[in-house]
Amino acid sequence: MTEKFLARHTTASLEALVGGKKGVIALVPVGSTEPHGPHLGLGTDVIISAAACLRACELLDKRGTMVGVIAPAISYGVTECATGFSGAISIPGEVLTSYIAAVCDGLLASGIRHVCLVNNHLEPAHDAAVRAVLAGREKKVSYACPLEKKWARTLSAEFKSGACHAGRYETSIVMAAAPELVNEPLRQRLSPVPISLSEKLKAGVNTFEAMGMELAYAGDPAAATTEEGEQMIQRLGEMVVGAVLESLGIKPAT
Ligand SMILES: [Zn+2]
Repeated sequence: MTEKFLARHTTASLEALVGGKKGVIALVPVGSTEPHGPHLGLGTDVIISAAACLRACELLDKRGTMVGVIAPAISYGVTECATGFSGAISIPGEVLTSYIAAVCDGLLASGIRHVCLVNNHLEPAHDAAVRAVLAGREKKVSYACPLEKKWARTLSAEFKSGACHAGRYETSIVMAAAPELVNEPLRQRLSPVPISLSEKLKAGVNTFEAMGMELAYAGDPAAATTEEGEQMIQRLGEMVVGAVLESLGIKPAT
C-alpha cells in the first residue's frame, strides 16, 4: 500500500508517487490550538481534521483514479473567541493565509496535482483566512469545511444547533479517532451547556467568556459515543472527497 503520510515519504518515493499514473491529492489537516473543555486537548480540531483526511484517503483509494497523501497539519489558527483561556494560541488571519498559501504552492511545485485544505476550526475569521488561500488557485486548491451548508446538513443535530464546541459532536469524533486523548471520567460528569456559538456570533457576542462558556465547551459531551464519532468521521471523509471532486469538475458518481 502507498504510504499515506507525506512526512514519511523520502524525496525519491515522493517523486515516484507523483510520476505515477494516478494524480496525487494532498490533504492538509487544518485546526487550531485552543481550549476544548476540561476533557479534550488543545489540539482537538487538528485531530478531527486528520481523521477526516485519513478517511478521505481510503475513499479516494476506492475510487482508483487518484491517490491521497496527508500533508503535515496546520496546527495554529485564528482563535480570538477563546481569548482569556490558557492554551488559546491565536495568530493573525493574514499570517495564516500567507503561511498556508506558501504550503500549498510548495506542495504543487513538488508535483502534487491538487491540494485540499481540510478545516475543522470553525471561527469565522479563521474560516475566512483559510478560504482566502483559494483566490487565484482555482482547480489547484480546494477547501473542505463543515461550515458550508451542504456539508453541515450531513452532520449531527448538535452540530447543526451550533452548540458544538467540545460537545457531543467533537467529543464523539475524538473518542473514535484517538480515545486515549479523552479524559473519560471527567467527560461523563460534564453537564450539557446549551449555548449555540453560531447564534451568539450572529448576535455580536464574540468570546467564549462573554457567551457564558465557563469551561470552554458547549453542547453535551457526556452524550458522546464512539459510534457517533465513527459516523461523523465517515461524513467528514465524504465531505473532503466531495470538495476535491467538485473543484476538479468531476461528477461524484463517476
Ligand atoms: Zn473544536
